[in-house]
Amino acid sequence: MSKVYVEPSNTLNVYAECDILVVGGGSAGHTAALAAARAGAKNIIIMERYGYMGGDVTGGYVIMVPSLTWYEKSFVRGIQEEWFRRMEPIPEAVLAPKLSQAGSTDPFLVDSWKGIGCVKHGQTPSLARAVYFEPNQLKIEMDKMLLEERDRIQILYHSWGVKPIMEGNEVKGVIFESKEGRQAIFAKIVIDATGDGDIFRQTGTPFVALANSQTRSNKTALVWRIGGIDWRMYQEWLRTRPNADRQMYQALGKVAGFPSMIIASSRNDVCWVNNWIPDKDCSKVEDLTKTELMVRETMRDVIEYLREACPVAFRNAYLYDIAPQLGARCSYRLQGEYVMTINDFAFAPQFDDVIAWHSTVCPINDNAPVEIPYRCIVPKNVENLLCPGRHVSADDIAIDWLTLIPQCVGTGQAAGVAAAVALEKGTTVRDVDIRRVQDILVEQDVPLPRHPKTDPELEEYVKAREYGLYTEFAKEAKALGDARPIYDPVKLYRVQM
Ligand SMILES: Cc1cc2nc3c(=O)[nH]c(=O)nc-3n(C[C@H](O)[C@H](O)[C@H](O)COP(=O)(O)OP(=O)(O)OC[C@H]3O[C@@H](n4cnc5c(N)ncnc54)[C@H](O)[C@@H]3O)c2cc1C
Repeated sequence: MSKVYVEPSNTLNVYAECDILVVGGGSAGHTAALAAARAGAKNIIIMERYGYMGGDVTGGYVIMVPSLTWYEKSFVRGIQEEWFRRMEPIPEAVLAPKLSQAGSTDPFLVDSWKGIGCVKHGQTPSLARAVYFEPNQLKIEMDKMLLEERDRIQILYHSWGVKPIMEGNEVKGVIFESKEGRQAIFAKIVIDATGDGDIFRQTGTPFVALANSQTRSNKTALVWRIGGIDWRMYQEWLRTRPNADRQMYQALGKVAGFPSMIIASSRNDVCWVNNWIPDKDCSKVEDLTKTELMVRETMRDVIEYLREACPVAFRNAYLYDIAPQLGARCSYRLQGEYVMTINDFAFAPQFDDVIAWHSTVCPINDNAPVEIPYRCIVPKNVENLLCPGRHVSADDIAIDWLTLIPQCVGTGQAAGVAAAVALEKGTTVRDVDIRRVQDILVEQDVPLPRHPKTDPELEEYVKAREYGLYTEFAKEAKALGDARPIYDPVKLYRVQM
């Protein structure tokens, strides 16, 4: 047994008492606080360990949001689309096909967007709305969004939530640490949006640890950016060399010693370097430290390699910047009232408590819209707590497709609205009036299936494409009835994100 130290008990200052406390200001937590305020909640606190909102998307430089549309139709909307609407007028802040261009098969358009991954490949390639954005502009915009609700939301930066305050199975608040020491905040409802279940893990609710090593979720990263490049020229260079894209990925992996990929950004003269450090747990200090050291050590070599391999595009390449925080894909996951599985992607079941209906990046269902039920963010056996974001309740495989930015924003928006509705109606979040939650989400521009105020064309569009039977794979499985195959993650094509 390892050595232990028994910490003496301590009397803490109560920093505040609030209605809703959001711990973690990533895409899920930021959205949750905002959605709660817009749904009428007051006295909301959002606590973030760093000095800015966004988590992975701003501090981690994860600067691409995929699959906001499915063919011509826009399914992922709400606060996710609002980010881009707000930033579009800012020069170089956003690069994406317009919503009205989604689904276009115009060869000129398809060709011009192909080089930055905005094309849905299939028998007839078509445009999909994927958005590239500048993370520092998003930091500014996320502040502005919260400050517009300053009468309802208090922001606490540089504050680290460390422990839930429990009374029996009820969460009553959170203890946090800052330069002012250890203090308490009491809250009627707590939203754990830390991404690693920092709060729910200490409540007694069931959860699981790191995903299957074949998945992208169990890999850490340290994203960095290269400046002085010419991305369009790089695309031209690739065009004239069959398989050069794949060869570049392999070569960079060799130079770095782990899988690495250069990806477009919102500017032609900057690209980002995504990487996948295998078998690392983003909740373990040792793995976090190793990731930082390993990736930084390789950066100069990667730039040197690019300069030599493709001088037309990288001759003047230089280290532009390094993400201020490590890329955390997944560690602990909730095992909530509903656990999403790969079957929910393959067969598109319908849920009465649907809170998001998202086109995704999922090779087994042609990226088609999938329903996410509210129960995925509701923990078992514990009251007054919701858990949106990348630690949402999902199995080893489905988690890979639920931790993308839109799904974190989507579950965050639903958590905020549900907390507001529970307070308004005097219920627990577990027993919340889900119809009212859905009505407010639709008012907040979140399309939901079977909702009278959602554009009926969306459902007709999906039905016409055989809802739940999108792929040959799903059709075959359905024909087998109860003998549905068990999916082998190793055999599945894995999306690298
Ligand atoms: C390298 C990489 C590449 C990716 N590529 C893509 C991509 O191309 N497209 C895509 O859609 N998705 C991608 N993803 C996934 C996506 O970016 C994340 O899953 C998503 O942004 C997570 O959002 P979140 O709010 O759930 O968590 P996070 O962004 O991790 O936010 C959690 C927030 O909580 C704060 N926090 C944590 N613990 C505490 C605490 N105890 N107290 C106070 N604050 C705390 C953190 O500082 C952070 O701000 C990628 C992820 C990585 C790491």
